[in-house]
Amino acid sequence: MEWLFLLLPLAALSGWMAACSHYKKRYVSEVSPVNADYFIGLNYLLDEQPDKAIDVFIRLLDVNSETVETHIALANLFRRKGESERAIRIHQNLIARPTLSTAQRDQILIELGLDYMHAGVLDRAEQLFLELVEKNDPPPQAIEQLLRIYQQEKEWSKAIDMAKKLYDQQRNEMGPLIAQFYCELAQQNKDPSSTVVESFIKQAKNHDHNCVRTALLEANIYISNSQFRKAFKCLEKIEQQDHHYLPEALPLMFICYQATNKLATFESYLRALLNRHPNMTKARLILTSIIQQQHGSRAAHHYLHSELQTYPSVEGLDALISLGDQSNQTLVPLIKGISEKLNIRGHRYTCKNCGFSGKKLYWQCPGCKQWATIKPTEIHLSSLEILLESSK
Ligand SMILES: [Zn+2]
Repeated sequence: MEWLFLLLPLAALSGWMAACSHYKKRYVSEVSPVNADYFIGLNYLLDEQPDKAIDVFIRLLDVNSETVETHIALANLFRRKGESERAIRIHQNLIARPTLSTAQRDQILIELGLDYMHAGVLDRAEQLFLELVEKNDPPPQAIEQLLRIYQQEKEWSKAIDMAKKLYDQQRNEMGPLIAQFYCELAQQNKDPSSTVVESFIKQAKNHDHNCVRTALLEANIYISNSQFRKAFKCLEKIEQQDHHYLPEALPLMFICYQATNKLATFESYLRALLNRHPNMTKARLILTSIIQQQHGSRAAHHYLHSELQTYPSVEGLDALISLGDQSNQTLVPLIKGISEKLNIRGHRYTCKNCGFSGKKLYWQCPGCKQWATIKPTEIHLSSLEILLESSK
C-alpha cells in the first residue's frame, strides 16, 4: 500500500496545474509561491510526515470546483490506508468552504460519513447520513449506508425504514431484506403468540412470499398453540420456496405428525420426498426412526443399511451403529466414537456466497453479512478428508 503515497504528489500536482492554468490569465505572479509550497509538501511526504504534508497540500490546493475532486481523492486515499483521522481532517476542511455546489457538498458529506464509519464512530456517521436522507431527493448512497449501520446496530425498525426508501427502485433485493428484518423483530419479542408478532410475520410475508424463515417462525407459533395442521401447511411450502432448508422443517413436521398420530402418512410423505431429493440425509434419518417406531429396530436397520450403500453419510453411519448389533466389544465402540466425532466436528451450514461454515444456522452470514445465504449442507463420507484435514 505504501506505493499509493507516490500517487499523492501526482494527485496534488494535477490539481495544482489545474489551479495554475486557471489563474495564469489573471494572477501570474502568484504561481511561484504555490510552486515552492508544493515542494515543501512533497518533502514532508518523503520524510514520512504526512500530517505536515496534508497541511501544505490543503493550503496549496485552493478549493474551487476544479480542485474539490483532487482533495476528495487525497482524503479517500488516506481512508483506504486506514488513516481515517487524516481523511476526516481533509473532508472537514472541504465542507467548511462556502463555495461548494449542492452536489459537491452531498458527496463530501457522504465521504465524511464513510470516514467516520471506518473510524468506528457510527453515531457521527449516522448523523451525517441522516442529514442527507432528510433532503427532498436524498442520495441513495446515504440511505444504503444508514441501512448498513442499522443492521450492524441491530436496529431493525430503522433498517426497515431505510430499506423501504429503496424498495421502489430495488424491489427484488429489498423485499427479502425487509422480510428478514421483520423476522428479527418477531424473534426479539418475548411472547411469540402476541398480536405484534403476528403482524410482523404478516409484513414479512407481504414483502417476500418465499421467505423460508417466516414459514419456520409461523410453524413454530402454530405448534406452540397445538395447531398442527396449520403448522404443517407452512412447512410443506418450504420445498417450493427453497428445498435446501427442508432439513430445518422436517423435525417440526415430525412433531406435527406425532402429535396427530399420523406417522404412517408421514412415512409415505418422506418416501416420496426422498424420491425427489435422494441426497437429503435428514429425511432418511427421520424415516429410519419412524420405521423403527412402526416396524421395529430390525426393519429400520435393514432399511438404513441398504440406503447407505447408495447414499453414504456420516450421520447415517452413526445412526446405523446405534440401531445394529452392539455385541462386538471392540469394533462397535471404536466406529461409534469416530462417527460421533465426525458428526460433532462437521459443519452443517455453509454460506453459498462466501463459503463461511458453522454448526449453527445464521440468517445473516457472520462472514459476508448477506441474508439467507447460509444453508444446511450434508456431511457426506466424501467430505471426511476435509474434516480429517481440518483436525490436524
Ligand atoms: Zn457469507
